[in-house]
Amino acid sequence: MARQTGFIRPRRNSRQIMVGNVPVGGGAPVTVQSMTTTKTSDVEGTLSQIYALYGAGADIVRCTCNDADAAQGLARIVPRSPVPIVADIHFHYEMALAALEAGVACLRLNPGNLRKPEEIKLVASEARDRGVPIRIGVNAGSLHPDLYKKYGGAVPEALVESALYELSLFGEVDFHDVKISVKASNVPLMIESYRMLAEATDVPLHLGVTEAGPPPAGLIKSSVGIGTLLAEGIGDTIRYSLTADPVEEAKAGRQLLEALGLRERRGLDLIACPSCGRTEIDVISVASQVQSAMEKMNLPIQVAVMGCVVNGPGEAREADLGIAAGRRKGHLFIKGKIVRVVPEDAMVEELISEAQKLVKEGVEARLAAADEHAAREAELDRAALLEIKGADANDSEARVNLIRRRLGEDKA
Ligand code: SF4
Repeated sequence: MARQTGFIRPRRNSRQIMVGNVPVGGGAPVTVQSMTTTKTSDVEGTLSQIYALYGAGADIVRCTCNDADAAQGLARIVPRSPVPIVADIHFHYEMALAALEAGVACLRLNPGNLRKPEEIKLVASEARDRGVPIRIGVNAGSLHPDLYKKYGGAVPEALVESALYELSLFGEVDFHDVKISVKASNVPLMIESYRMLAEATDVPLHLGVTEAGPPPAGLIKSSVGIGTLLAEGIGDTIRYSLTADPVEEAKAGRQLLEALGLRERRGLDLIACPSCGRTEIDVISVASQVQSAMEKMNLPIQVAVMGCVVNGPGEAREADLGIAAGRRKGHLFIKGKIVRVVPEDAMVEELISEAQKLVKEGVEARLAAADEHAAREAELDRAALLEIKGADANDSEARVNLIRRRLGEDKA
């Protein structure tokens, strides 16, 4: 449990929703979010960034779903992601339906951009039937023109009205699995909008200062806006929107929560894949063996436990050290490069021994000490697994075909 200092206000009572396996609101730990900057159709590049964000402290990651290629990319990314994926939808309700088909854990809709009530209700009905939550993501910069005119500008009342109107449309189709954000780049406007919203509803709130810009100004604006609200007990999940590598967003979010005593400080940074149709080992059991053995050693490194050698070393290439299973062997890798192949029952022990050497000798020395045949052996194991399980062990292609059919039908 994180250490509550007692100097910040008790958390606001909000209802709880589940974004995949991550609870948001209802007293759950405040979560960190970030967003990928890759093209979502670039599956490997996006997954590599998702792993880097996960390693840096992100609990939930958002990817844009702006076209059919992105939706199909999501179908391939979702089963291999270590964190729940939120699809960001802007103008096209068809993309929301396609993202649901891809299996995402949450949608983000911008009421300023997706405006037709019948389309919004159709998306909400589909999300309701699938048990997928939606974030109503109001943004001061893209406020609905009618509200802008009514209030003479983007004021807190206008942002809150936009969110509550969308919420009422969801209510009409009996959909209540919602979180809301009312972001603005103007920090006082953002703070006041959230305060007002927190009074008006018990829906969990996603905090952020939008378009905060590059560090250090972006960090300062975000920390002041998000930090002020968290200290008042408002907010269930947060995102720093920086003009920077998104890993910086995840790190900053995590550090802010730790500074406020809302999340625990981390020692050894153990990351593990969620496992999927390709898994070759019991990832949960191996990860917990590694965790209990390494926790006490206090080694300042990031270690990855990955379920397969087909994708594991690539997905976790940002980790200092990792192990990927396959064909009853453990494939040890450093910064994504295979350095040794060991029997499966010895892989935890080998991983721990390599971790100690890595901390003592450094990355370059350990890469130089790699077994020269290891990479070739791993490549053969990878090829054999692809032969056995095929290229689509997660049935992603079936989902992609559904998306294609759905977009083909709906595009009339
Ligand atoms: S089993 Fe392999 S493909 Fe599946 S999530 Fe783990 S590393 Fe990725």
